[in-house]
Amino acid sequence: MEIHRKIIFEGELDKNFLSEIKAKSYSEEINRCIQCGTCSSSCPMAEYMDYSPRKIIAMVKHGFKDDVLKSFTPWLCASCYSCQVRCPSQIKITDVMYCLRREAVEAGAYPSKMPVPALAQEMHKLIAKNGRNSELWLVVKMYLRLKDFIGPLKMAGTGIDLMRTGRLSLKMEKIKNTKQLHTLLKAVSEEAK
Ligand code: SF4
Ligand code: SF4
Repeated sequence: MEIHRKIIFEGELDKNFLSEIKAKSYSEEINRCIQCGTCSSSCPMAEYMDYSPRKIIAMVKHGFKDDVLKSFTPWLCASCYSCQVRCPSQIKITDVMYCLRREAVEAGAYPSKMPVPALAQEMHKLIAKNGRNSELWLVVKMYLRLKDFIGPLKMAGTGIDLMRTGRLSLKMEKIKNTKQLHTLLKAVSEEAK
């Protein structure tokens, strides 16, 4: 296996990153990580991640903001909570992963060619607009955002089968009173400012 080494100088680290993530993920316990690796060995997705959950917690602790926000790891987290329930220091690792996704989107640092961030953002837009998700339109919007025109062709067979069995519809789903929803979301976002 080829080993790539990357040198990061102390001045490049973000000293506020740990306190930001602790506050935003409601996980004050991050400091208590003893690097035991229970999280990584419990994680069904660890082998596909660029940094294991143990490494991510260590990097958050030490201010590796740039690398953490660009990482694939939070987007590959399946939210199974295995790491969180087994952590001897009771660190809310899954909640940290959710928080890192939000931070990566806000900073525009997420892996842009990865479908999961595009899917999450497009689903948020659809639900905020219509109050419901519409799977077919969600997938179309995701591929457009990724500028991937081959993906839909590969998925066409599955899509047609799902439409035939009534599991996928061309209809844009909508709740009756979208105006009420928009007022509610506006109030929540003003409250959060
Ligand atoms: S299980 Fe908890 S204490 Fe152990 S490495 Fe993971 S986060 Fe740290
Ligand atoms: S919640 Fe995420 S990081 Fe934790 S074990 Fe499950 S997939 Fe891995």
